[in-house]
Amino acid sequence: MRPFDKIVIANRGEIALRVLRTCKELGIKTVAVHSTIDRNLKHVLLSDETVCIGPPSLLKSYLNIPAIISAAEITGSSAIHPGYGFLSENADFAEQVEKSGFVFIGPDAATIRLMANKISAINLMKKSDIPCIPGYYGPMLNSVNGKYDCNFICQKLDYPLIIKSSGGSGGRGMRVVFNNDELKKTISMARAEAKIAFHNDDIYVEKYLVNPRHIEIQVLSDGRGNVVYLGERDCSIQRRYQKLIEEAPAFGITNAMRRFIGELCAKACFDIGYRGVGTFEFLFENNEFFFIEMNTRIQVEHPVTEMITGIDLIKEQLNIASGCLLNFTQSEIKIYGHAIECRINAENPITFLPSPGIITRFHAPGGFGVRWESHIYSGYSVPSYYDSIIGKLICFGATRDIAISRMKNALNELIIDGIQTNIELHLKIMDDDEFRKGENINIRYLDRKLNIFSKV
Ligand code: ADP
Repeated sequence: MRPFDKIVIANRGEIALRVLRTCKELGIKTVAVHSTIDRNLKHVLLSDETVCIGPPSLLKSYLNIPAIISAAEITGSSAIHPGYGFLSENADFAEQVEKSGFVFIGPDAATIRLMANKISAINLMKKSDIPCIPGYYGPMLNSVNGKYDCNFICQKLDYPLIIKSSGGSGGRGMRVVFNNDELKKTISMARAEAKIAFHNDDIYVEKYLVNPRHIEIQVLSDGRGNVVYLGERDCSIQRRYQKLIEEAPAFGITNAMRRFIGELCAKACFDIGYRGVGTFEFLFENNEFFFIEMNTRIQVEHPVTEMITGIDLIKEQLNIASGCLLNFTQSEIKIYGHAIECRINAENPITFLPSPGIITRFHAPGGFGVRWESHIYSGYSVPSYYDSIIGKLICFGATRDIAISRMKNALNELIIDGIQTNIELHLKIMDDDEFRKGENINIRYLDRKLNIFSKV
């Protein structure tokens, strides 16, 4: 059965193309909505219909809710896929899509709203016994003359602490503090900044874990009682709190640990009647998991899970959104092999500043176990308006060693000229002894290595 006749893909770049490909496979017609600068994007050229929704600026195009809903109306589409980023975790958007008579391919608006607010998400997770970081997740109301009484926090928690914004995302809005004075000073500042950046000045304080790994659990739930977990991903290789390399499974995680945390996540989904794909993000330290947030959308790094389970997560999203039940059970999910993803960004590899411009020469890698997810081609101009991700290179092998050696070959084959990219940085990581052995990999790994790499 075909889930929908025609859908709008409300995104751009590699994820729009990824969604389009699965739609084509399932016989679903696609409408690409795009900004004026994105007329020549690959998925726009390959889609059945296109609608220009505005000028390049994000607010006027990919965040322009009325324009996207109008595009669904005039093309007779039945559903909207939000991809990741942009409007994918915007509860108002999901609500308006549904009110306008279309299906939002994702969870219901109420669930998105709960999870988008990190304080409410953490408090909800605690009710389902998901382990959380020791912290203060209550309201910061004790303001006297603009100063906050932090005694209640200081008494209960040890430093260092991290102040986080309840509405924060993309690694922004976090500040580490080491003593009472810093805490008191920083709380007001963090609130003021959060109000401007996220239109929400709720903040919370939790223990700052010094050397954790970032490990996350992929779940799938049909909203009608059937929930599965698809193992974990290690996303510890980060820069500025943003992921750069992801792998699945996470080395060192035993079947018993996977089952323990997977079952907890599945139960939490069941408890809240979750519908769609979702990711529970954890920090992992001293063999313990600590929940940090839930993402209610498809994630950039979803392909590594697809490679080790053989499950097309976009197809599952489409099926679930159209009301189908999950057609497999937990015991039918088999994890095989190892997959690694390198995010290829148009950026200066040292400063991480974006590097827009025309790609003068491009050659994609290939071969057994190599997957290239990207919208770029020779002559394509990387605009300065959007995220710097221009592709994802995913390599799969029976073992982690094989996946790494395939990744090295594939990175060497990948040619992108005309702009700066982080291909060389990925190659250095693949060659790094500690990375290859899986030793000392945690969220500080890249900060530690960057100094060394820049000298080699
Ligand atoms: P965002 O939604 O902005 O991505 P997250 O809460 O998911 O924020 O955290 C992003 C990253 O920030 C984590 O992967 C980790 O590197 C770091 N981080 C978050 N919370 C903590 C903490 N309590 N201790 C140490 N690092 C943290």
